[in-house]
Amino acid sequence: MRTYTYAHIVGKVHAMRQISYWLDSAPAGVDYTSAAIPRQVDIAVIGGGLTGLSAAVHLADTGATVAVLEQHKLGWGASGRNGGMCTTGMAIGLLEAIRRYGVEAARGLYGQYDAAINLVEKLVAEEGIDCDFRRSGKLTLASKPAHYDRLRETHSALAEIGYEATLVPRDGLSAEIGSDTYWGGLVDPLGAGLHVGKFVRGLAGAADRRGVQLIEDATVTAVSRVSGQVHDVRSSRGTVRASQVLLATSGYSGRAVPRYRRRIVPIGSFVIVTEPLPRELIDELMPTRRMAADTKNLLFYFRITPDDRMLFGGRARFALSNPESDLKSGRILQRGMASVFPALAGSRVDYTWGGLVDMTRDQLPHAGEHDGHFYSMGYSGHGVQMATYMGSQMAAVMSGDPSANPWREFPWPAIPGHLGRPWFLPFVGAYYRMKDRIS
Ligand SMILES: Cc1cc2nc3c(=O)[nH]c(=O)nc-3n(C[C@H](O)[C@H](O)[C@H](O)COP(=O)(O)OP(=O)(O)OC[C@H]3O[C@@H](n4cnc5c(N)ncnc54)[C@H](O)[C@@H]3O)c2cc1C
Repeated sequence: MRTYTYAHIVGKVHAMRQISYWLDSAPAGVDYTSAAIPRQVDIAVIGGGLTGLSAAVHLADTGATVAVLEQHKLGWGASGRNGGMCTTGMAIGLLEAIRRYGVEAARGLYGQYDAAINLVEKLVAEEGIDCDFRRSGKLTLASKPAHYDRLRETHSALAEIGYEATLVPRDGLSAEIGSDTYWGGLVDPLGAGLHVGKFVRGLAGAADRRGVQLIEDATVTAVSRVSGQVHDVRSSRGTVRASQVLLATSGYSGRAVPRYRRRIVPIGSFVIVTEPLPRELIDELMPTRRMAADTKNLLFYFRITPDDRMLFGGRARFALSNPESDLKSGRILQRGMASVFPALAGSRVDYTWGGLVDMTRDQLPHAGEHDGHFYSMGYSGHGVQMATYMGSQMAAVMSGDPSANPWREFPWPAIPGHLGRPWFLPFVGAYYRMKDRIS
C-alpha cells in the first residue's frame, strides 16, 4: 500500500476537477440558454432541478402549457450534485418520526419515500432514461457500538410498520464492506442508486418532448400576484404571465423568494470521486455495491459509481459551498475516505464539488400553497426520490387535489433570527460535532 501524507493529499486535490462528476460524465444536455421567454403560460415553474422538471412533466400531462425558468443550467443545483442515492432515508430517521408523530403517521411518511423510489423507477422505465438505476439496497453503518443498538431498534420499528430489512452484526460486516471502522449495519433492500446527471437530463428530455418550454440562464427576480389567478414572473430575460406558479428553488432559494430564505437553511455538502478502481478492489471494499452512509450527524456517505469509482461524500464542514470551501472539504473527505478504506489512500481523486443541502428546522420537506403560489422544497438532504415525487404530487395538487401533498399538515414557521444568510452555521456545526463525540 502507498504511504499517505498531507503533501500527497494536497497534490492530488489540486489535480482534481471541481465540477460534479455526474454532470461531467452524462451526455451533454440540450442548450436552452437562448430559448425564448413565452409571454404567457398556464404554469410557470421556477427552478430546473428534480422538483421543477418532474412537476413540469406531470403538469404537461394534464394538458397545461408549462415553462421552467432556471437561473443557470437545468440540474445545476443540488439535483446535479448529489450522491445519486435514491433511498427510503427520511432525514429524521424512522425512530424519530415515530417519537414525534406516532407509529401510524411514521408508517405513512416512510411509505411516501417507498412510493417516491417507485416513481423514479417508473419514470426511468417509461421515459427510457438510461441512467444506471439499480435497486442496490441501502446500507446504514453504525459508527459506534451504541449506534448499532439504534439500528437494532430501527430494524424492529421497520418490521412494525411492515418493512423488511436485514441487521448485519459487526462480525458479518465483511460481506458488505471491506472496512473495520463500523460496529454493524442495517440493509434496507428498497434503496437504489442511479447516475443522477443522466437522470436529470433524461427528465428534461421528457419535459421537452411534452412541449414544456425549458429556459436556462433566466434568473427570476420577483413573483407578483396581479389578481386572483394572474401572476407575473419577472426574470432577467423578461416577464412571463402565468395562472399558476410553482417555486422549486429549494436550497438555492434567493432574494426573489424571501419567505423561503427564512425557512430553508442552505448547508454545504461535499463529494469526492476517485479514479476508476480495479474490479477486484471494489469486490473487497464494497462487494454488494450498496448506497452506504454512517450514523454520525456529520456523516460520511459513499457508493461505487456505475463506472467503478468510489464516490465519497459528507458534511465535511458546516459551511456553504464555493470553490475554496469545496476544495478544503475535498481534503477532509480524502482523509476520511482513507480512514474508512486505507486501501484508497493512494487513489487519485478526479472530482471534488459541493452543493447546498436544503435543510429545514424540522428536517421534513415542506410543500403547499401560499399567497396564490405553490411551493415544494426542503428535502433536507433526501431529495433525489422525494423531489422527483413531489414534482408529481404538486402537479396533482395544482390540478385540484390538495390531498396529494403528503406534507400538507406540517406547519412551517420562519426560523427565528434567520433572515437569509445562515450566520449560525458554525455554531450548529460545533453542536453536532459535540453530539457526535458524546453520543
Ligand atoms: C452534495 C449533495 C449530496 C446529496 N446527496 C443526496 C443523495 O445521495 N440522495 C438524496 O436523496 N438527496 C441528496 N441530496 C439532496 C438532493 O440533491 C436535493 O434534495 C434535491 O436535488 C432537491 O431538488 P430540487 O429540484 O428541489 O432543488 P435543486 O436541484 O437545488 O434545484 C433548484 C434550482 O432552482 C434554481 N433557482 C434558484 N433560484 C432561482 C431563481 N431566482 N430563478 C431561477 N432559478 C432559480 C437553482 O439554480 C437550482 O437549479 C444531496 C444534496 C447535495 C447538495
